[in-house]
Amino acid sequence: MTAEEFRQAGHQLIDWIADYRARVAELPVMARTAPGEVKAQLPSTPPLDPEPFASILADLDKIIVPGLSHWQHPRFFGYFPSNGLLSSVLGDFASSGLGVLGLSWQSSPALTEVEEVATDWMRQMTGLSEAWSGVIQDTASTCTLLALMCARERASDYGLSRGGLQEEDRPLVVYTSAHSHSSVDKAALLAGFGRSNVRVVEHDAHYAMRAAALEEAIQRDLAAGFHPCAVVATTGATTSTALDPVEDLARIAQRYTIWLHVDAAMAGSAMILPECRWMWQGIESADSLVFNPHKWLGVAFDCSLYYVRDPQHLIRVMSTNPSYLRSSADAQVKNLRDWGLPLGRRFRAMKLWFMIREQGVTALQNRLRRDLANAQWLAAEVRQAPGWKVLAPVPLQTICVRHEPPGLAEEALDRHTLAWADRINRSGRAYLTPAILDGRWMVRVSIGALSTEREHVEALWKLMRDEAARP
Ligand code: PLP
Repeated sequence: MTAEEFRQAGHQLIDWIADYRARVAELPVMARTAPGEVKAQLPSTPPLDPEPFASILADLDKIIVPGLSHWQHPRFFGYFPSNGLLSSVLGDFASSGLGVLGLSWQSSPALTEVEEVATDWMRQMTGLSEAWSGVIQDTASTCTLLALMCARERASDYGLSRGGLQEEDRPLVVYTSAHSHSSVDKAALLAGFGRSNVRVVEHDAHYAMRAAALEEAIQRDLAAGFHPCAVVATTGATTSTALDPVEDLARIAQRYTIWLHVDAAMAGSAMILPECRWMWQGIESADSLVFNPHKWLGVAFDCSLYYVRDPQHLIRVMSTNPSYLRSSADAQVKNLRDWGLPLGRRFRAMKLWFMIREQGVTALQNRLRRDLANAQWLAAEVRQAPGWKVLAPVPLQTICVRHEPPGLAEEALDRHTLAWADRINRSGRAYLTPAILDGRWMVRVSIGALSTEREHVEALWKLMRDEAARP
C-alpha cells in the first residue's frame, strides 16, 4: 500500500467507523453468532496474492460486525463499560501511523514525555497528590502483577538479586478479599507467592473487606511464622462496585510494613469527580494503585494507569540496562522500559492525550455525572417495584438486581434470574451480565456506555419487567 493508496483507504475506513458508530444503536447488542460461525466464513489458509482493500472492508460488514457484541451500543449494560471516544480512536491511529517505539527516552523522546504529561494530567484530574508518579500499562492485570512483584522485592530486600523467593525463610503472604478481581489471584500466583499464601479476608454485608479481619489474619500469620507482604484493596469491585475501606486498611498496612496496592480499575475514572473521592479516602497512604481510563472514562482499549509513590523502587525491580539502550541523556530522563515488563512501548499516551484535549475535563465530568444519576434513577425504580430488589449499595454506576417472585427460592430463583436475563440478551435489545452474589445468581446492570441516555435506561427497565413477568 503506497502512501496515496493509504490516504484513500484510510478515508474509507474512517467513514466506515463513523457510519458504524452512527448506526450501532440499530444492531442487536449481543452477537447472535454460533461458535465457529465466524471462522467458517474465513479461508483456512492465507491469501497468496494481494486482495483489494475494498474486499477487506466489505468483510467487516459481512463477517465481522455480525460476529460482535457491540460495546459502544447505547443499550450495552454488560460487564463494565469500555468506551472508545472517537478522539482517542484517532489518537490510536496517530500512534500506529507514526510507528515509533519507546525502547528508551532517546528512541522516541516525545513518546516518553507525552506519557509523563498525560499521566500527570490524570493524576491532577483524580485529585492525587504530587507524590505519585504514573506510567501507562496495557491492563489492570499487568499493573497488579507489577505491584505484587514490587511488594515481594521490598519485603525480601531485593531477594531477586540473590536466590529469589526460594531462599526466603518465611513464606510471604498476600491479603485480599473474595470480591477482588480474579487478576489479583492470578498476579499473586504469577509473582510466586503460591496459592497457600493468599489469604481471603472476610468482607462485611456491603462486600467490603473488614479491616479488623485483616489485622487478625496478619497477627495469626506472624504468630505462625509467615511474613505478611501485601494487601490488595479494591475501590469498585467487579461484581458489585463494593468499596474496601482504604484508609483503615492503609493504617494496618503501615503498622505492619505491608505494601498496599489499590485496584480502582473501574472506580478510578469516577475520581475526576471531587464528590466521589470519599470512595478511596486514604489513598495517599497506599504504595501503588491502578485504574483504567479504558473503561468508563473513554480511552479506546487498552490504557491502564499504574501510579507508584516510590518510582526508584519500581525501577530497581524492573530495570535492565543493556549497552545498546544506554544514552548520554539517561541521567536526565525517564526510561519507561524500567517502569514495567515489556521493553517495547507503544505510543499509548497519544490516545489519552487526544481524548483529554478534545473533551476537556468538564465534559468528561458531566458525562460521568449523567451516568451516576441514571444509576440512582434505576436503583430507585427497582427498590420501589414489588418483587424486585437492589442487592448491594450503588455508589457508582452498577446496580445488582434480582426479581424475586413469591414462591421462588434457591435453584428455582436462580433459573428464573438466568432465564429472564438470557431472554433480554438474546432479544438483542439490551445486554446485561448475570453474576453470583452471596451464592445466588443476580443481574448486574452496568450503566455508562457513551451514548446511554436516560431513555435507554428507561427502556431497559421496562424490558426487565416485561421479561421477568413472562411465565
Ligand atoms: N480489577 C477490577 C476491579 C476490574 O473490574 C477489572 C475488569 O473489569 C480488572 C481488574 C481487570 O482489568 P483488565 O482487563 O484491565 O486487566
